[in-house]
This record gives sequence, structure tokens and C-alpha cells, in this order.
Amino acid sequence: MPERYDLAVVGAGVVGLGHAAAAMQRGLKVVVIDRATAIVGSTVRNFGHIGTSAHVGEAREYAERARELWKRYAPRAGFWLREPGTLVVARNEDERAVLAEAGEGTLLSGEDVMHRSPVRGAVGGAFLAGDVQVDPREAAPALAGYLARRGVEFRWRTTALGVEPGALHTSRGEIAADAIVFAVNFDVDHLFPEIAEEHGIVRCGLDMMLADGLGLGTPVLTGSSMLRYSTFAGTDAAAALRARFAAEDPEVLARDVNQMYTERPDGTLLVGDTHHRDVTVAPFQDEAAFDLLGRLARELFGRGLRIRQRWQGVYASAPQDFLRAAPLDGVRVVSVTTGIGMTTGLGLAESVVTELFAPG
Ligand SMILES: Cc1cc2nc3c(=O)[nH]c(=O)nc-3n(C[C@H](O)[C@H](O)[C@H](O)COP(=O)(O)OP(=O)(O)OC[C@H]3O[C@@H](n4cnc5c(N)ncnc54)[C@H](O)[C@@H]3O)c2cc1C
Repeated sequence: MPERYDLAVVGAGVVGLGHAAAAMQRGLKVVVIDRATAIVGSTVRNFGHIGTSAHVGEAREYAERARELWKRYAPRAGFWLREPGTLVVARNEDERAVLAEAGEGTLLSGEDVMHRSPVRGAVGGAFLAGDVQVDPREAAPALAGYLARRGVEFRWRTTALGVEPGALHTSRGEIAADAIVFAVNFDVDHLFPEIAEEHGIVRCGLDMMLADGLGLGTPVLTGSSMLRYSTFAGTDAAAALRARFAAEDPEVLARDVNQMYTERPDGTLLVGDTHHRDVTVAPFQDEAAFDLLGRLARELFGRGLRIRQRWQGVYASAPQDFLRAAPLDGVRVVSVTTGIGMTTGLGLAESVVTELFAPG
């Protein structure tokens, strides 16, 4: 008789690992498969910013739970986590108006902001105390190692090819499992094209850079971040901010920039990012996008960045924040579809496991 699992998870990114961790906590027998040889998806390509305060509604609920889970797993799995909060910098009155209307965190004067961070031209800001940070290149691999030590089985270089209730078909044979979760990020359309189309899922490609650090300490968000995250984007004042970008710096909107920065434990600076959406993301990154990120950093910090690496990140993008679909009995398709999976993924995954296996 082939071995039978309580849960089989496809995808070893933060969303898949979140399912595996929640199931392991219940004492379930879990297998995780991934077509890659290691964790190489969105989960290692991001800022590592667990930006709980920047979200409202369902995203906020998952984010608050996810923050607790990150804090629980960091000492157990042995990865770096700190609670520096987030500094949101306002460099125009319209940005200050967004922060005031949002009412999230502690409002700061421009001087306070420039005292806390090596930024220039601040007229105000907000400090979001609840936000957490991990090193994206280290956290998920360490979590996977911890889960493996606790009995979760990992099968790398194993691709999911199809599914039926109770059976996952893979490139290395069949896996029998009572529940099967697909946490494959944007590749939902490979196995479930109808679900992807119904939910409007496409790919979002992002340009990112790693630079020498500036001694930030606290992650920095800016005006363009206010147009993106629901706590700020939902304000009336955000319309005036958007109109100013359209008039004064339209490239920021054209490339859908989220100008933000986090520093890793080795002091290097993660710099991003731009966004372009399509069913297939073009593999050719446009140097003009990196020039724009460089120019924005010079304007904010008053100095150029020394760039060490550039890369493309890709995540699933759709009008709603989350995809939770149940195509078959005991089968779930789960994806974070607005680029907030580090913040929310562990909380979302736990709630899916609770739904599959009843409250535990
Ligand atoms: C540049 C960038 C910056 C970001 N910044 C942040 C941030 O600061 N904060 C935040 O909250 N979020 C951020 N995000 C979003 C976050 O990284 C993602 O939402 C999250 O990592 C998605 O996790 P995942 O597990 O769904 O996907 P992934 O990490 O991509 O994992 C999916 C896995 O599925 C596997 N897979 C796919 N198909 C198959 C198959 N058929 N068989 C087997 N395996 C398969 C892949 O190999 C992959 O390992 C950012 C994303 C990017 C790209």
C-alpha cells in the first residue's frame, strides 16, 4: 500500500509552508512537493516586510495572525526577525494629508522623520509600530528546515501534473492524501485555467535591486506606497496624491512604482519596485525602470546607491487580495493575489487548514 498523507501541499513558498506548518501543529502527516530544487519563488525575492498596519479587512486579519506566526517560528526555526515598525515618509502636503486621514500609527513631524532616518525633504510622516521584518532570503528556507526536522516530508524536483479527490499526480508518481492544497502562486493557470480566468489572475513582474546599505534601521515607505496599500489608498486624500503624481512625475504611475526600502541583517538595502502585469511576463527587464528607482532613491536620500544585484520578481495578480477556491472535494487552490504574501500568507494558510480539518 502506498503511504497516505493527511495533507499534500504543492509549492514550498510562504503560502505552501504556512499550510504545512499549520497542519504539522495539528499533528497531521504532511508532504510538500515543489518542482524546484530549493525555495526560489516570490518568497525569496521580496522585501521581507511584514507590513501588517498597511492593510484593512480580511488582509488585516490574516496579517495580524501571520505576524504572530512569524514571531512564533523565528526562534524555533532560527531565522532573523526584528520588530522595527515602518516609517512612512511624507514629502508633500498631500502625502501628509493621506497619513492624517488614515489615522494609522503615530503621526510625526518632518524633523522627527529625518531624525529617525537618513531621508531628505520630509514634511511629515507616520510610524507604524506593529510591523515586522525578516530576511526574505533566509526566513522561508529556515522554516522549511524546521518543518522537515519536525517530520514534514519535502519532495523537491517534483511537479504536480493533476489531481483528483484523494490523489495528487506528480512527475514522480502518485501521492495519496486526504486533503491537497495547491499553493503555486501565479502558476494557478497551468493546472486550473478556468479558476485563473474566473478570478482574473495574471502575472505581475517586478524590478528589484540590492544596494549597499544606508543605515536605515526602520523599513521606509513613501508616497507611492500610499497609493498601493489599503490603509492609505482607501482615503479621500489619496486622489489628490495620485493627481499630483500624474501631473509631476507620471513615470511613477506608468511603471506603477512602490518606492520602498528595507535593510537586511547584513546591512544591504533592498530597493524597489516597479510592477507590470500580463498573462506572461516579458523576460527582458527595462533599464529605464532601474534608472527610475535610482533617481527616486537619489531624491529621497540625497545620494546615489551602489547597486550589487538586480532581479525580477513575479507574483500572482488579480482584483481581489486572495484566491481560495475548492475545485474538488478536499482540494484547495490558494494564492495571495496582490503581492502581500509575506504579510498575510501564514495567516491565510492557517485559516484554510482550519476549514479543511475543522477547528483544532
Ligand atoms: C519583488 C517582490 C517584492 C515583494 N515584497 C513583499 C513584501 O515586502 N511583503 C509582502 O507581504 N509581500 C511581498 N511580496 C509578495 C510575496 O513575496 C508573495 O505574495 C509570496 O511570496 C507568495 O508566496 P507563494 O508561496 O504563493 O509563492 P512562491 O514563493 O512563488 O512559491 C510557489 C512555489 O510553487 C512551486 N510550483 C509552482 N507550480 C508547481 C507545480 N506544478 N508543481 C510543483 N511546484 C510548483 C514553485 O516552484 C514555487 O516554489 C513581494 C513579491 C515580490 C515578487
